[in-house]
Amino acid sequence: MRSSFDDPLQLRAVNAHVFCSRLFWLEYVAGEFVDNAHTLEGSHVHRRVDKPGGAMPAPHTPDESAENEGDDPWHTRSLWLSDDTSGLTGKLDLVDLVDEGRVMPVDTKKGKPTRDGELWEADRAQLTLQALLLKAHGYRVESIAAWYHGSRQRVVEVLTPEMETWALGHAMSARHTRSLEKPPAPLVDSPKCRGCSLNVVCLPDEVNALTGGGAHEEGEIRRVLVPDHDAVPVYVTESGTRIGLKQNMLKITPRRGSDMEPAEVGLGAMSQLNLMGGVQITTQAMQALLRRDVPVSFFSYGGFYYGRTQSATSRNVKVRIAQFKQAESPVALDIARTLIADKLYNARVFLRRHLPQGPESKRVLRKLTRIRKKAEKAESAEQLLGYEGEGARQYWSHFNALVQADDEAWAMQGRNRRPPRDPVNAMLSFGYALLVKDAQLAVEAAGLDAYLGVYHTAHHGRPSMALDLMEPFRRLIVDSAVYLMVRRGEVSPEHFVRSGQAVAMKTHARKALIAAYERRMTESVIHPLFGYAISYRRIIAVQARLLARVLTGEIEEMPNFRTR
Ligand code: SF4
Repeated sequence: MRSSFDDPLQLRAVNAHVFCSRLFWLEYVAGEFVDNAHTLEGSHVHRRVDKPGGAMPAPHTPDESAENEGDDPWHTRSLWLSDDTSGLTGKLDLVDLVDEGRVMPVDTKKGKPTRDGELWEADRAQLTLQALLLKAHGYRVESIAAWYHGSRQRVVEVLTPEMETWALGHAMSARHTRSLEKPPAPLVDSPKCRGCSLNVVCLPDEVNALTGGGAHEEGEIRRVLVPDHDAVPVYVTESGTRIGLKQNMLKITPRRGSDMEPAEVGLGAMSQLNLMGGVQITTQAMQALLRRDVPVSFFSYGGFYYGRTQSATSRNVKVRIAQFKQAESPVALDIARTLIADKLYNARVFLRRHLPQGPESKRVLRKLTRIRKKAEKAESAEQLLGYEGEGARQYWSHFNALVQADDEAWAMQGRNRRPPRDPVNAMLSFGYALLVKDAQLAVEAAGLDAYLGVYHTAHHGRPSMALDLMEPFRRLIVDSAVYLMVRRGEVSPEHFVRSGQAVAMKTHARKALIAAYERRMTESVIHPLFGYAISYRRIIAVQARLLARVLTGEIEEMPNFRTR
């Protein structure tokens, strides 16, 4: 089998390796990439040098032989070079002719030079390797330079043999990191992590806290930076609505006779688009959303989640290999035990918060604690299923008592679905469909296959891993949203329609539930393990990433998510 040691090594990958070997592994081995303000700014300042231009003269020819216009000394932009002997390859932003056939690579960087006005180490390594590539092609190179766009400064350094040996050593070290099965440990308390585009993937402080790397006390962990915090999920709930594209906006046109107002939503303002029932969307709009990585999820009118479009499956194939390897292993059962124990724990917290105090509430809370402790020691998935069922019976009978306390019309006939047979079950089913959708987005962003779980069995069309991941959150997000809607009078029985045995939500109830669900998802809570404030939506994303790390072996145990 061909080793990754033999593959050509990109010069910008060496730059990343000098900056942080974990960043290099995540980006160039696992294929993770996330845009942030720094990467977008970097692309912006590179837009000119990314356009090929100028011809490279033969080595050692004076400037008059260059195919140059006017009297300017020539330069070449966006030049790809490779060298089989060193195994290096890369694009050179700019090559300048210095004089007498000597050339100098010049790289464009978005920031500023070091405080001493010098090249950053990562830039020096990259530029030195660029010089070596030029030399391998017969050019004379005696200096290297970077154009720092942030301070509009060109920093030039003389190339020395020591620099060449040093840069080749970094290339060697990057090759070694590329051969590792797992990423190197995160940096500890490094200021580099703040501006790193992959901090939401890497989770440096969280992983260090869980693996014993770095000494973090509770509350010392830096908050995970949330990408796209201004972008919001958009829901279109009315059948017959048409969605088209108008420049960078989605144009939403209601069906004739609808009360809904036409709307235009900027593509950049949207984190996801959710379509309920017979909403039409044009190919142009779909393409624009795919280009921007905005997922489009499709639901039936009644709230059944069909699935979603995605621009590309995560390129992190190592996570999926680990997931498939571990599917039947004790690791999968360990994770399942944690998820179900957390679900039982959080169900108890929900009842403790809302049940009137008395002997009955004490009894059920004690019972749920006993069941949860048994679940933590379950020896098989079947046993775990039994404890989960026992806990659910206790929970639902008391949830039923809570919702119908003020009005008998909210009485539940146990937990039922497909179709739901009472208004509360109709709302719960719809809310869980929204949660599956968000859990699936998180699972796939973490590089996992949503259809192979650790607890829910594989079944045609069932996103088992998303269902697994959402277990600890059902009570805290959906049940809580439904209970509060009922208690606050945000819905009433006339907002539902009965057809035979089935009960469905009318438009008002559906809109009210989406609003209540989104309020809950954006609510900030203190992470019980890491001690920082974080939204439920972000917690689900973090848990998905940590679950993937357990499967790849970077973290030993699935961290709990238990609310207080
Ligand atoms: S967040 Fe920090 S440790 Fe993680 S990849 Fe970025 S720089 Fe490296």
